[in-house]
Order: sequence, then structure tokens, then C-alpha cells
Amino acid sequence: MKIKASCSNGANWKQVDVKSRIPKELDKLEELARNMWWAWNHDARVLFRSLDEDLFDEVGQNPVLLLERLSYEKMEELSKDSSVVRKMNDVYAAFREYMDVEPDKTRPSVAYFCMEYGLNHVLKIYSGGLGVLAGDYLKEASDSNVDMCAVGFLYRYGYFTQTLSMDGQQIANYEAQNFGSLPIERQLDADGNPMIVEVPYLNYKVYASVWRVNVGRIKLYLLDTDNNMNSEFDRPITHALYGGDWENRLKQEILLGIGGVLTLKKLGIHKDIYHCNEGHAALCNIQRLLDYVQEGLSFNQALELVRASSLYTVHTPVPAGHDYFDEGLFSKYMSGYASVLGISWDELIGMGRQNPDDHSERFCMSTFACNTCQEVNGVSWLHGKVSQQMFANIWKGYFPEESHVGYVTNGVHFPTWASTSWQRLYRKHFDKDFMKDQSNESIWEAIFDVSDEEIWKTRMELKTKLIHYIREKFRDSWLKNQGDPSRVISLMDKINPNALLIGFGRRFATYKRAHLLFTDLDRLAKIVNNPHYPVQFLYTGKAHPADGAGQGLIKKIYEISQRPEFLGKIIFLENYDMQLARRLVSGVDIWMNTPTRPLEASGTSGEKALMNGVLNLSVLDGWWLEGYREGAGWALTEKRTYDNQAYQDQLDAATIYSLLENEILPLYYARNSKGYSAGWVKTIKNSIAHIAPHYTMKRQLDDYYSKFYNKEAARFKVLAADNYAKAKEIAAWKETVASKWDQIEVVSADKCDELINGTIESGKDYTIRIVIDEKGLDDAIGVELVTLHTDADGKDHIYSVEPLEVVKREGDLFTFEVVHSINNAGSFKVAYRMFPKNKDLPHRQDFCYVKWFN
Ligand SMILES: *Cc1c(COP(=O)(O)O)cnc(C)c1O
Repeated sequence: MKIKASCSNGANWKQVDVKSRIPKELDKLEELARNMWWAWNHDARVLFRSLDEDLFDEVGQNPVLLLERLSYEKMEELSKDSSVVRKMNDVYAAFREYMDVEPDKTRPSVAYFCMEYGLNHVLKIYSGGLGVLAGDYLKEASDSNVDMCAVGFLYRYGYFTQTLSMDGQQIANYEAQNFGSLPIERQLDADGNPMIVEVPYLNYKVYASVWRVNVGRIKLYLLDTDNNMNSEFDRPITHALYGGDWENRLKQEILLGIGGVLTLKKLGIHKDIYHCNEGHAALCNIQRLLDYVQEGLSFNQALELVRASSLYTVHTPVPAGHDYFDEGLFSKYMSGYASVLGISWDELIGMGRQNPDDHSERFCMSTFACNTCQEVNGVSWLHGKVSQQMFANIWKGYFPEESHVGYVTNGVHFPTWASTSWQRLYRKHFDKDFMKDQSNESIWEAIFDVSDEEIWKTRMELKTKLIHYIREKFRDSWLKNQGDPSRVISLMDKINPNALLIGFGRRFATYKRAHLLFTDLDRLAKIVNNPHYPVQFLYTGKAHPADGAGQGLIKKIYEISQRPEFLGKIIFLENYDMQLARRLVSGVDIWMNTPTRPLEASGTSGEKALMNGVLNLSVLDGWWLEGYREGAGWALTEKRTYDNQAYQDQLDAATIYSLLENEILPLYYARNSKGYSAGWVKTIKNSIAHIAPHYTMKRQLDDYYSKFYNKEAARFKVLAADNYAKAKEIAAWKETVASKWDQIEVVSADKCDELINGTIESGKDYTIRIVIDEKGLDDAIGVELVTLHTDADGKDHIYSVEPLEVVKREGDLFTFEVVHSINNAGSFKVAYRMFPKNKDLPHRQDFCYVKWFN
């Protein structure tokens, strides 16, 4: 008998989730731990901390892991401690009171799709602003008690944690997450088994486990493919956030969109509105179209219904930030959908192209989202304008300023980001309905009645807390990584709560210009070493592991921070996450943001700072362009002065230096006999009273309802009534118009000679008459006269759009008329355009046929 070197078959591992054994006196802890409600409820966190302070910090303040790690003996002991049991019962009673309210059915229901959610630092399924925004949104949806659910991914590795090497090189560590120790639960199916969703890929299926995060009253479903039902090729689909190659990214987006809709179907969930937060999820509309087609509707009818009930929010201001897929890759996975949808492949891929017939154009998720969602929005007023330009080519025939693309400025979830001390202060001085009426500026004005001393004291308390946190959190890693211990200790000692603290924390994307402050090091050294005006800068942020330039910036800032003249004055804090963010945005005096305008779509961390009496010093970009008020913070010039970016950087840096030297530092150090600066406190009060009310997540959520959800839900209802009668009618009408479009003829254009010669006089009336043969259409055409004005820079702007009215109808011939005049002299251009007119359409871009003529 030959003895083999080894002999074993493969184990058939079975997933076992071991729950902690908890004495029944304490069993409510388990339920509390598994609802993220604790992430924005101070008393709940205090309760968990009180179970074992050291262990709570050791487990990274994760209540589920805390319960798992607490020994049964310790649990027994706690269960006999009446004060612990009472505290638990109080928190639980508050939790139940919150949870047991029926959802508000008067507002439309929403299914929300996003690649990342930042709910709390323990759940590493976010990377930055987009995720934190989505997490805040769900929390506010819960507080506002709207009917919403959400879909995302449970990443095995999440986003990386960051450390720096001795020379400032970013090291990205990917730690596998143990799902059993996270505040999530397996979603069970009707039979009580773990729910698995089958998602078609190529000619086989990928099996996604479904997890549920209870976000207060809102359910967030997370898909996870890292299980042994899938091949080695598919398990990594949900391994990493923004990791992997383009093929994996496409597979992720199929899972999020198509898999997401299949998950909701399996759960029996149907919502009024489907909201794609960023283009990643746009393929949800493929599955939604397919569902209607399989109900027996035509593709065009299905598209009417899908569009009417979906909203696309874009978060990036540059085309390069969108996802594009080559036709080869895209067709590998998606070609099967064309025939089942009843359209050709070219039609399907064309929905993701600005020029559908251009075969060299890649499929763009954003373009597809624009073509399948009735409404589109950017995330600040300026970003809305930028997005109108960015997407202008999708809707040819209309000018960017006529675009239906709107905006909702981002906000932040107040209970998450206002520190406990500030929440206490607000509760004490503000109207008791404050939380329900957060956007009401008159409530916030009560801040003017709060004494200066109380404000200053609160600020000092939070600064001290931040410094304590930094000393605790970073001592060990700095001692390990930064060599010379005496230098680290001296650095620690130098962090000074009496100095003006300036914070800068965000992703190190180059457009955010983290380097700006370091443009003139001599001048900066003078500022930070002025003994009368101590000032310290705290920098933090991660760079994407593939972004060499971003990592270079971190390295540069780190190197500068180690120079003798900057040691302890410029400090880099590693591993920016939501926990550090919470400390930082409440513990510094000034939040600085220096993006290249207009590349900061909104930005939100400055809004978090706002809620904590922290003042903003920022470029007038994103939310700050709207938020800035004189006497309530500082703004860098709005206008772009130089085309050359290096000059612009120098100008902006010089502005920061002089603001610091001449305004900010003198104001901060204008201390009165009571030890504080009255001018500074006044600025804080102005900022809280006049800016903060407009940047809460409550305002953002209400805006989404009033600008988009309500309107779409109402229209969808009309379209869907009587077995989709209106949707069918509109689809049929569009088909008829489209089929006649090329034949429609301008029979006569009785325009005045002056207009033809281009020699009209200002203020004089000219009558214009145009006859159009609609080729059998029933008054389906609108005509308008478009006048452009050419400005001093040679740029054309719309001067006026004048509709012509139908004054006579003879058979197929329609006569249109308008009396035209231009009141200003100058250089103008005129042309006529016709378009399909129908009061049932939500906007022109919904059926974007335009024919220009002269
Ligand atoms: C709020 C937040 C962000 C987003 O900040 P921006 O101002 O949009 O750059 C990024 N990361 C973390 C950890 C945050 O808390």
C-alpha cells in the first residue's frame, strides 16, 4: 500500500453564527446592539460603555462585539446590578417609543440605492463623502419616519485603514470583516432560512446573501457574494469598495442595480420612487424595465413607467468621474437583456451614449441614468449648474440653462454630527419642537440668547476633548512609526487647547488642494511661530490606493510636519474615519476647505463643523457658495481669476495667509477680561443662527420630497391608473410623433424682411407667421423663436424664448404667430425650433425631439 504524502477531502464548511449568551435580565441589550439607532443616541452609547469601559474602547465601540466579548460571568454580575438594568430599561423604553410609531404613509415611499453607506465607523462599508451622505440620509429618513428602504453591499474588506510609514508613505491595510461581530443581521426568507438572491450573470447565476442593517426604523439590505455557492471568479464581487478591475466594477454594478431590484422583489417590497444615488446603481432600471415587459408591456410603455418613478442624483462635477464600460465588456454581461426587453442591442447600449450611433463611445452609467430617470439632480446649486453643462449633450436641441437637471444641496444628520455638548446646549435654549422643525431659522436664533461664556466654555471643552483623543489614539502608533520617542512626546505636549486649531480632513483627491497652505513655507512658518498668536493645523485624510498623486500629497504634508519649524504646528492624523471626523469637526476652531472651484460638488464636513460652533474658511464652492454669510465665516474669492492653476493656487494661498494674519488670528485673540473673544463668539452665533438651519439632513430630505419625490409619485400614479392607460397613451403618442417627425414640413415662413436681413431695430414690433404641415398629427407640434445674445467674451446666452401660438388650423396645416421685438441693442442670433408638445410630459427633455429652422 502506497502511503500518500497527504490524504484529505475538502471540508464542507457550514456557516454557523454564534450569538452571545445573555442573561434574560439583559436580553434587551442584544436587540439594542443590532439596531444602529445607538449610533445617534447618546444614552444608548453611554449604556454600552457602562457595561465595561475598557472593553468598549478595545472593541472599537462596537456594541455587538462588546456583548460577544463580555464573559458570561461578567454578564451575570451586570444582570444583578440594578442600576445597569434600570439604565437598560430606560434606553429600551426610549427605543421602543421611537420604533413603535407607524411609518408616515402620506409621503411617497422610496427605495434608495448606493454603493456605500457611512453609518458608523464600526461598519466599514463607506469610503468618504458619498457614503456618509447616504448613511446620514437613512438616519434622517428614520427620524422623519418616512417609508424608505435601501440597498447596498456588505464588503468583506470594506475600505482600507490607513497607516503611514516613517517617511510618510501611505500604507493601506485591508482587514477582512467578521460579519458575525457587526451590528447587522442575516435576512431570513419566508421559510426562516437565510435569504439568498439569485442574480443572472452570463449564462449562470451568482448567489448573494442578504444582510440587514436596522437603521432605526429603516431597513438597509446588504448583498454579499463572498460565499461558497459562488466560484472564485464571483466571490470577490463584494470584496472591496472601489477596488478590483473594470470587469469587477461592472459585476458590482450589475449586482447593485439588477441584484438590488431582485432582492426587493424577493422581499415583496415595492416602492413609489427608485432613487439612484450616483450612477453606480443605474442598472436597477434594466431590471425594472424587464419586470414591466414581462408583465406584458412594450419596451416604450415600460420606459414611461420606469422613468416616471426614478430619480438620479449625480455627485461628481467632471465627466472623468463617471463609470464607463467598453462595448466588449458591457456586451459580455448585458447583451442578453436586449432581446428580452424587446429592443436591439444598439438601442440598449445607445441609452448609455451621448451619441447613440457612435460605436466608439463607451457605455456611460450616468448617461444611462439620465436616459432612464425622469428627474436628475446635482448636490448644490452650483453643482446643479455644472451638471446641466456636463449632461447638455444628452439632450440636444436645448441649452444647458434650459435643462431640467435640478439640485438639492447636501446636508448632515444633526444628531450624528452635533456633539453631545452642543446638543445639550441646543436642547436647553431652543424651542422643544426643534428636532421636528430643524430648518426653521427663527428657532436657531435663540443662540443669540445664550451667554458668550457658555458658548466659549462649550468650545473649550470640545477642544480639550479632541486633544485628549489625539493623545490617547495616536501615542502608540506615533511612538512605533515616528522613531525618536522624545520628539513624539514633545509633539504631544505641543498640542495646545489654547491655540487656534484649524482642521482639514477629507479624501486626498488632488482637486481638494490639500497642498494649498504649503505654497509659501516661509510665510507659513512665520504665521505658526508667532508667539502672540499660536495656531495649529490638523490634517487628515486617505488617498485612493491607486491615486499616486494623492499619496504624494500626504507624503509631502507629512514631511513638512516633521520639519523643526512645523513640528507640533502642522500635524497629520492617520486613518480618517467617521469617529475621527466626529471629534475633529467639533474640536477645532476653524474648518478649512480649499477645493478647486467648481470641483467640490457640495462637501459636507464644513456643515458638520457648523453644528458645533466651528467656523468655516473655504473656497466659495459647493455648499459654501450658498451658505457663506458675511460675519459668519470666511470665504476665498468666488471668481476664477487665473486660467493657470499654479497662479490661482498662489493667489488663493496668499488670501489664506492674509486672512489668517489680518482677520482670523487677531479676532480669535482679542480676549476680553473674561478670557474670551466676544467678536469670535459673535461670529459663531451668526454662523449657527443664519447658516446651520439650512444644512441639516432634515432640510435635504424635505427638499427631495418637495422637489422630486412628490411630483414624480403623483405623475406615476396618473400613468399607472387603469392598467397603465396613460403610460400606454403617452408611449403611443411618442411613437406616432417619432414616426412622422422627419416628414413634418415648414410650408411657409412669413417672416419680416428685417429679421431675415438681420437689421431689426430695438423696441419695434415685428409680426412673424409660420405655417407648418404636421402630416396628420393632431396639434402635436410647438414652435418657438429663440434669440441668443452674444456677450463681450463671444459666448452665446439665451436672451429670450418666445412661443408662437396656433392662430389657424386648416387640415394638416397649422399657422403659428408671434409679435417679436428686442428691447436692447447689440449682437443677437435668432432661430426657430419646433418640438413635440404634450401637457402630459414632465419636461421637454422627456421627449427630446427638436428641429431647428430659419
Ligand atoms: C463627512 C465625511 C466625509 C466627507 O467630507 P467632505 O467635506 O465631503 O470632503 C469624508 N469622510 C468622512 C470620514 C466623513 O465623516
